[in-house]
Amino acid sequence: MSATPHAPESARIAVRRHPERGVYDRAAVHGIIDEALICHLGIVQDGQPFVMPIIHVRMEERLYFHGSHASRLLRAIAAGQPACATFTHLDGLVLARTGFNHSMNYRSAVALGSGGEVIEFEEKVRVLDALIEHVVPGRVADLPKPTKSEIDATMVVWLAIEEASAKVRQGPSLDPPPGNAAPIWTGVLPLAVVAGAAEPDAHLPQGLAVPHYVARIHDLGIRRCRR
Ligand SMILES: Cc1cc2nc3c(=O)[nH]c(=O)nc-3n(C[C@H](O)[C@H](O)[C@H](O)COP(=O)(O)OP(=O)(O)OC[C@H]3O[C@@H](n4cnc5c(N)ncnc54)[C@H](O)[C@@H]3O)c2cc1C
Repeated sequence: MSATPHAPESARIAVRRHPERGVYDRAAVHGIIDEALICHLGIVQDGQPFVMPIIHVRMEERLYFHGSHASRLLRAIAAGQPACATFTHLDGLVLARTGFNHSMNYRSAVALGSGGEVIEFEEKVRVLDALIEHVVPGRVADLPKPTKSEIDATMVVWLAIEEASAKVRQGPSLDPPPGNAAPIWTGVLPLAVVAGAAEPDAHLPQGLAVPHYVARIHDLGIRRCRR
């Protein structure tokens, strides 16, 4: 972990372009990771990079992933290969007076590290519960305990966050003052992930209410969009 919150831990994670957008404070990086519902996880195999979207959960300084035992990505992580995990929040479209100055507002994080496989049964259950809670907080309490065959069929791996950076762009375009330039609309179009209304399965018994934790995601999403 970085000794000073605003300095990169190594040259390879130092944001070079717009260094003022670089953030290395672990709490800020964790916040970006934890808010993300998915991650893009990259490995190199036989000289070929592969980057796949995957669900994650962070616990302390480790990221956890799950999937099939046949997953190339997970097998590579289990074998200790170095990996790169990227997390992206798209906060807005930035429309400028020139195409050159168009941009996006975002918060993104990059974590580098290596890890291994989670083997122990109870540890796997703990991680799988945490994955569900990361996506739908409150859900696990309503679910039956996973069976041994479900756990055995699932590969669980961890990746240490050995080095991490974040990059944050917010605000309007970098246009110079307009002067006598022809009037053209410029500004920011905010974007956010918003949950729609819950769609119950057709076979649910009449009157079974949408759980409070599902309704909460919907309400939070609407509020976030209107902020
Ligand atoms: C939604 C979105 C859209 C973008 N669109 C573009 C685009 O169209 N063109 C473009 O050039 N760039 C774009 N970027 C920025 C892009 O991610 C890179 O920061 C930039 O291209 C510089 O790349 P580089 O290889 O020179 O990075 P360097 O600055 O050389 O990277 C060095 C280290 O800095 C850190 N770092 C770099 N970028 C990021 C990041 N985004 N988040 C967290 N850590 C980072 C990493 O640890 C990396 O190893 C976009 C970013 C986001 C989130």
